[in-house]
Amino acid sequence: MSAAVVRAVGVRHSYGRTEVLKGVDLQVDAGEVVCLIGPSGSGKSTLLRCVNHLETISGGSLWVGGHMVGYRQKGNKLYELSDKEICRRRADVGMVFQQFNLFPHMTVLQNLIEAPCRVLRHPKGAVVERAHALLARVGLSEKRDAYPAQLSGGQQQRVAIARALCMQPKLMLFDEPTSALDPELVGDVLDVMRGLAESGMTMIVVTHEIGFARDVADRVVFLDGGRIVEDGSAEQVISAPQHVRTREFLAAVR
Ligand code: ADP
Ligand code: MG
Repeated sequence: MSAAVVRAVGVRHSYGRTEVLKGVDLQVDAGEVVCLIGPSGSGKSTLLRCVNHLETISGGSLWVGGHMVGYRQKGNKLYELSDKEICRRRADVGMVFQQFNLFPHMTVLQNLIEAPCRVLRHPKGAVVERAHALLARVGLSEKRDAYPAQLSGGQQQRVAIARALCMQPKLMLFDEPTSALDPELVGDVLDVMRGLAESGMTMIVVTHEIGFARDVADRVVFLDGGRIVEDGSAEQVISAPQHVRTREFLAAVR
């Protein structure tokens, strides 16, 4: 077994009879930042959802943190995971969505400490301390008693990132985290993500922010029609794409 944090081999996924992932091979090593780009409907969100146990793959194999997603291996046999086991595995993966999905009836601080206290059963004092440090890191210490509706979209998204980090994940998934934001709020969120990347976090980022991908990503992966068309350094894929589909896509988003 390699030291990969994510390893997908021939991963397939179908919604009903429509196959949307058609054999995806992808490896993400510890500390790597991979930007996943591609047209709408190409399967980017589905791939992230498979990595986070939100979808069941229909073919191939997928490992996250050395564990096969959805299964427990014992000797040569595979056993399907129980809901409780899935919950425990999922705790290792933080996910940030386009819509921030904060708990609207909880303050910022409560949003951060809820899952670590309830799911991980970490002692509250330690979690609160961690939450304060994370809010400082995303520049929102003074908002800890505010409710989500009192924050801008950019602030809410930074809270969502801090909330995911409060679970101390080994991998962070971002699904178009800045797509729902007013343009002037995008920069602060990207700055937080850049800092996280610099701290050594393993990240898969679905984004149309090509500038961010060029600056921050160790690798850029172009997905089209459920297949990886191009996978290389940011320099290679963005500045010198090999495939006509990649070139067309980049021309359209820039
Ligand atoms: P992307 O994130 O790249 O835009 P998605 O992974 O969301 O692409 O979707 C890939 C394809 O799967 C699209 O054709 C989309 O319409 C379809 N799809 C996504 N979610 C569902 C679903 N829950 N049920 C049926 N089809 C879906
Ligand atoms: Mg999507």
